Amino acid sequence: MKILRIGIPRTLSYFTFFPLWQPFFEGLGLDVIVSPESNKEILDDGIKETVNDACVPIKLFHGHVAALKDKVDFLFIPRLISLDGKSTLCPKFLGLPDMVKYSIKGLPEIIENRLDLKKGKLELYRFLYRIGKKFTDNKLLILKAIWRARYNFNRYRKLLLQGFTPLEAFPLLQKGNITEVKPKNGKIKLAVLGYPYTLYDGYISVGLLDILKQHEVDVVTPEMVPEKELQRMSKKFRKNLFWYYSNNVAWACKYYLADKTVDGIIHVTAFACGPDSMTNKLIELEAKEAKIPFLTVTIDEHTGEAGVETRVEAFVDLIKRKKGIM
Ligand code: SF4
Repeated sequence: MKILRIGIPRTLSYFTFFPLWQPFFEGLGLDVIVSPESNKEILDDGIKETVNDACVPIKLFHGHVAALKDKVDFLFIPRLISLDGKSTLCPKFLGLPDMVKYSIKGLPEIIENRLDLKKGKLELYRFLYRIGKKFTDNKLLILKAIWRARYNFNRYRKLLLQGFTPLEAFPLLQKGNITEVKPKNGKIKLAVLGYPYTLYDGYISVGLLDILKQHEVDVVTPEMVPEKELQRMSKKFRKNLFWYYSNNVAWACKYYLADKTVDGIIHVTAFACGPDSMTNKLIELEAKEAKIPFLTVTIDEHTGEAGVETRVEAFVDLIKRKKGIM
C-alpha cells in the first residue's frame, strides 16, 4: 500500500508545533516531509507567489509551500485562530490557507482544519481527532497518535523552558531520556524578543542567534518563559494586544525586566508587520522605563548579515563596556 506523504512548511507555526504535528501524522501512518531550511531560492519563489505588501515571514511561507507542492500528497496548513483561548493570531495566519490556495497553482489537497482554543482546552484533541478521521477509521490508532504527539510536545516545552532554542531541542527529542542542561557561560545576557518564525529561522534573522553566541552572549527568548509567568505578566498591562505572538513578546519583555537578570533587549521585527508596529513601541517604552538598553532589528527580504552584525556588535560592546567587561 502506498504511504501517503504530508508536507509541513518549515516556517511560521513549525517552530511552535512541529514536535506535535510530526509524531501525530507518523502515528497515523503518514510520511512527514518538511520543506528545506529557508534559503534565497525559497524566499525568491515566495516573493513571486505573494502579494507585494505581505510581511517577509508570509512571503517565505509561500516559498516553502512551493518547495513542497510537487513532493507530497497533502499539505498541512491549519487555520490557527486562537492558541490560548483568549487572543487570536494575526489576520495573515487566519487567512493563510486561502491566501496560499489563491496564490499558488497546482497544489495538492490542503489539510486546513481550524484550531480555536476559545472553544475550550479539549479543542486541541478534537482538532487532531477530526484530522485523524480523514486518514483512518481506526479510532484507537488516532487516539494513540494524539497521545504520542502530546507526550512529545510536553517534552519539547520542557526543553524550551530549560533554555534550549527549538533548533537545539529538535535533535534532543530524538533521544530517550533527556539529561542535557543548557550551558550558560556568556559574559552578558540578552533577551531576544520576536516571533518564533523570525527568531529561529537562521536565514531571515540573518543568523542573529549565532552572531550573539560568537560574542559570548547568553540569550533568552519568549519561548523560555513559563506559561504561568506569562499569564502573571499579562495582568501588569492595562490592556493586552489582540494577537497571540505579540502578547507573548510583550509579556516576556515584562518578565525579563522584572527578573532583572538581562543586560539588554533586542526586538526582532518583520518589516510590514502591522502587529509589530504596536508591539515594538510598547516594549521599547517598557525597556526605557526600566533603563535597560534596547535595540530594534528589522528584517525584510533585503536585510544583509553585515548590517545586522555591525549594529548588534556595537550594542553588545556598549553593554560590555557599561559592565566593565571590556
Ligand atoms: S504577526 Fe506580523 S510578521 Fe507575523 S504573520 Fe502577522 S504580519 Fe506577518
